[in-house]
Amino acid sequence: MSSKHPFVIGITRLRKAPGSVVRFELLGRISDLKVAASRVSEDEDIAVAGTAESVHGGILITATISTRWNGECRRCLEPAFGELEISVRELFERAEPGSTPSSEGDTYPYTGDFIDLQDMVKDQIVLELPLAPVCKADCKGLCPSCGADLNLGPCGCEKTTKDPRWSVLDVLAEKDR
Ligand SMILES: [Zn+2]
Ligand SMILES: [Zn+2]
Repeated sequence: MSSKHPFVIGITRLRKAPGSVVRFELLGRISDLKVAASRVSEDEDIAVAGTAESVHGGILITATISTRWNGECRRCLEPAFGELEISVRELFERAEPGSTPSSEGDTYPYTGDFIDLQDMVKDQIVLELPLAPVCKADCKGLCPSCGADLNLGPCGCEKTTKDPRWSVLDVLAEKDR
């Protein structure tokens, strides 16, 4: 297994026997997998396991992609972690070498006797990475007034946020006194 192309499967057997199925289990890493507030680190293993099936029109890949993401909690800014388990079903179509992919983007091209799943794996993970990660479902976040981490306990700021319109009346009331 080459470390530069860990997500390659050989399909010589499939191309010779339409209807046949090959199982695969791959493990690799991909750099630069991130969205705004979460990412899959480049030293994080990504497992891709499933089947490649020779079907009319190409090779059908049915697989599960598993890995772990990390990021910053959108509420308290502490580290957040989670797991991804993504089911995929994608058709790979044979492209002649040098031809421009016909694509409206609903299939992936392959040439020769190999399929490189890396682009598919990348696309799927980017789609599934959380845009607004939280460290835990009930994270209390930071106090909007003093910035204290409310998960560590109450900060002492007044709990009721005043409607700004009423503060004008407060000022008037002060003057009247
Ligand atoms: Zn948090
Ligand atoms: Zn506070």
